Amino acid sequence: MNAEIIAVGTELLLGDILNTNAQYLAGQLAALGFTVHYQTVVGDNAGRLAEVLRAAKTRTQLLVLCGGLGPTEDDLTKQTAAQVFGDVLIEDAQELARIEAHFAALGRPMTPNNRRQALIPAHGGKFTNDNGTAPGILLRDGEKQAILLPGPPSELVPMFEKRVLPYLRTLSDCVLVSRWLHVIGIPESQLDMQLADRLNAANPTTALYAKTGEVHIRVTARAETEADAAAMADDAAKALQDELGDAVYSADGSDLETTVVHLLKAAGAHLALAESCTGGLLAQRITSVSGASDVFECGIVSYSEKIKQRLLGVKAETLAQHTVYSAPVAAQMARGAATLAGAEYGVGITGIAGPTGGLPGIPVGTVFIAVHSPQGTFVRRAVWTNRSRQDVRIRAATAALDMLRRAVLGLLQPDAVPFCFENEEARA
Ligand code: ATP
Repeated sequence: MNAEIIAVGTELLLGDILNTNAQYLAGQLAALGFTVHYQTVVGDNAGRLAEVLRAAKTRTQLLVLCGGLGPTEDDLTKQTAAQVFGDVLIEDAQELARIEAHFAALGRPMTPNNRRQALIPAHGGKFTNDNGTAPGILLRDGEKQAILLPGPPSELVPMFEKRVLPYLRTLSDCVLVSRWLHVIGIPESQLDMQLADRLNAANPTTALYAKTGEVHIRVTARAETEADAAAMADDAAKALQDELGDAVYSADGSDLETTVVHLLKAAGAHLALAESCTGGLLAQRITSVSGASDVFECGIVSYSEKIKQRLLGVKAETLAQHTVYSAPVAAQMARGAATLAGAEYGVGITGIAGPTGGLPGIPVGTVFIAVHSPQGTFVRRAVWTNRSRQDVRIRAATAALDMLRRAVLGLLQPDAVPFCFENEEARA
């Protein structure tokens, strides 16, 4: 069955608010197996809304509208849609009682225009609003249907999930189930070639979503029942995971920081960070995970050379010999943080996020990332050229998280090299 989304509101057209309802509804309808071919935004204008509705009704079976159900003069959605669907609005005693009770509970007088919200179509239906006063509306004209939802997401989302979704399940002739794999270390362009056959397949479908420093893969299966679709999606995700190996860091939608915190927790290990160019971004990501306190000891934003030396034991001669942007300094920072905190794992990050700076042989975008672990110390030299400052910082934190993941799991560090303190310090 096909569907289309119509968001009503002049403030959407002016760019005052982001159309998050459309994004939400598109995802929900797709997951229910509806094919969405059109999304429209139209202002609070009865003539243009009627025009949009008539066009949509000729081409689409299910119209899902949001916004313009409120009590004010510019809330025209219900009246206009009822006309286009050849229905009339009548006052619903139950809805009126709900609205009156709502105002009584607030201790505020109910203005006459609020009665408009108790109007529902004589031949259609309604969806109760548990979080506001405007009920959702169902209109029918032969095979065509429209569902009208309130604009505020705090009303729309719960109404959709509790009331509308069960109704839509009865209309849909198939179910879509998706699984997500999160991949790191293989660029999108390479995945695009490697997975070409899957990316072109019709069912299950496979789609790539490039994120900063990682790629997310969505596998979606379509079947008559949820169980069949889930089995197909699981099989396809498993096959993909087998093919991509340890580049897949999560198969349950978890982000990288959550994955790392859970791995450290499972290992009973602790973590300390010494960050320079990432300025605490890695600590922020780690501590955004619930339960991080079980594993996270401290994060030091050691920006100056003085603090790198005083707090982390970075050696003056190392700084003099290699500059602060170097593998030995990153390694000493990682070891220094771990030692300071008595943690099994330490991370050191130093580099030039740009856009200014850069030294001969150390271009802007160069970052050294070290992970100190019971199995040894590894350092990666990454160069992200032509990237914004924020992009370099995010990529550096992401790369550090992946090195940590690999260290805790005992996996190879394909982009990093082992670092030997004895050799370095003997040379100095
Ligand atoms: P109300 O009863 O509050 O008047 P309504 O159904 O008439 O609700 P609108 O007046 O169109 O809805 O929008 C109310 C508020 O809901 C907007 O100010 C905005 O904050 C939010 N909103 C409306 N449409 C959207 C949308 N498409 N995406 C995200 N938020 C929205």
